[in-house]
Amino acid sequence: MFDEIATEKRPRWDSRTNHFLGSCQEHGNQTCLKFENENDLKMMVEDVEQENVHLASEATVGAVGLLSGDTCIYGTRLILISGTCKKEQAPEHAILIQNSVSAINIRAPDFCIGTVSLASDGEAKRGKSLVMIMFKHSLKCSGMEARFLVMCRLRLRAVEPPKPAVFEPSLAPAVIGLRRAQGPAQNSQSPGPGPEPELSA
Ligand SMILES: [Zn+2]
Repeated sequence: MFDEIATEKRPRWDSRTNHFLGSCQEHGNQTCLKFENENDLKMMVEDVEQENVHLASEATVGAVGLLSGDTCIYGTRLILISGTCKKEQAPEHAILIQNSVSAINIRAPDFCIGTVSLASDGEAKRGKSLVMIMFKHSLKCSGMEARFLVMCRLRLRAVEPPKPAVFEPSLAPAVIGLRRAQGPAQNSQSPGPGPEPELSA
């Protein structure tokens, strides 16, 4: 599963890795992210001010969920958090997703699991990325997959153009009765545009 969450635009130093965090994944390689001396910090700040690199406004979050009836196993496990400035395009985003899937597949045999689905919301860029990753081959009409897909019913609904208003003769008595009941009260307060045309069945 992949989605985005909003983040504060705030750089920080990570003591475990001795790196500056909070920059975008798209342009982070264009500045100094490792903190070895004061000049590295100044260079990173200058690159942010000159917009060579951006502070992440969102983070791409990737998680793995196991399809199991056991609720202890069913929960999602976070495997990816990557800051983004939203300037990456579908091909770059596809690489990020593919790297995540490859990392999962490397460890999959250890847990006897396999990838059966990549899910996301309706975000257009990720949709294009998933198409680039997943749509590899055309199915043969004689193949086993095609036989199962044929049984799937597509629920398509044709949108009919609106019909013009047609006077329904069977409703005429009710319409006339309603107008007669409203008529005297309206006429007593305002002169109105004039007498209404008579309805006839
Ligand atoms: Zn950026």
